[in-house]
Amino acid sequence: MALFPYTAEVRAFVNSNSYDIDTILTNPLLERVREKGKERVISSLREMKLGEQGLYNEEECRVEILAYVVSRMIASVIGDRFLINRLAVTEGKIASQRLTGDFGYMLLPLADEFGISPRPEGTDYSLDFASFLRYSSKMRSPEWKLLYQRVQGGRVVVDRHRLIRLVEQAVTDHLSERLPPYTDAIKNALEREIGEVVRILEDIKKEFQRDAFGEISPEKYPPCMREILRQIQNSENVPQMGRFAIVTFLHAIGMTAEQIFDTFSSVPDFRADRTRYQIEHITGKISSTEYSVPECSTMKSYGICFKPDALCARDWMKHPLTYYRQKGKKPITSSRRQQPGKQR
Ligand code: SF4
Repeated sequence: MALFPYTAEVRAFVNSNSYDIDTILTNPLLERVREKGKERVISSLREMKLGEQGLYNEEECRVEILAYVVSRMIASVIGDRFLINRLAVTEGKIASQRLTGDFGYMLLPLADEFGISPRPEGTDYSLDFASFLRYSSKMRSPEWKLLYQRVQGGRVVVDRHRLIRLVEQAVTDHLSERLPPYTDAIKNALEREIGEVVRILEDIKKEFQRDAFGEISPEKYPPCMREILRQIQNSENVPQMGRFAIVTFLHAIGMTAEQIFDTFSSVPDFRADRTRYQIEHITGKISSTEYSVPECSTMKSYGICFKPDALCARDWMKHPLTYYRQKGKKPITSSRRQQPGKQR
């Protein structure tokens, strides 16, 4: 049970052992549980692992199950999408490792738990179309396209490895979509643990942003964004979509709402209150949505794909952020270029 703590069996165990939320949050004897719950979150965030798990005896398993419950409470209170997804993906990956290893016997019960209901077909398994599509739809690789599936008797046939991958996705989806309800009691009781997780979460996000885009370099901005900035700075009439695009772009490459505001504040007819409101709304600071940078196709349809250059003309150039990333890369010199016939 402790290895797959999101099953109905575990929920029944927690309920039948009188572990109500209040007990988990406040009982001094369960301090270790709360600590382990926090470690579970931090370990998922940092290394996509679940921390130290003994699970050698009944007591260890009980602690681990309750620690899982605490980790979900922490995620619910913080409510950060990156954190919630990271926890969900970690649980999914660990489930997959366990099903591939010593706990393969749990594959069918776990698949049933998420409504997949596979039927053994020799060494393979068949499942209904709806289950297949539900969990394969987020997988990008062509091998998951319905077109390439083996179909037998109106059911999709997959090998064991692919069934495990579908169950991994089912665990991930389930955990990223369902969280325990947020309450002030949880927030207050876990204040210390939550504070620690939030600090680590912020550090990790900053690190990711730096890794993804490096230092902010205006010389890497795509021509559309350079032109929109130029128009704003010359007080030209920039369409609403242009303003939206530049704010989302600057935010995506690592600028805070305050830095974006400063970028615009040199504009002669700068309307501070209105601009600040728009920036904070678009970057998610005062709204529940953090908007994404429009794709090149959207920029084109709004007539703000200004002055596309040779890099924009490449087949794979679909997004202004791809341009920014690509522009930061060093060109491949002839000595580094792949020799014909050699594998990279
Ligand atoms: S192709 Fe894309 S990146 Fe290039 S200018 Fe147009 S919108 Fe910008």
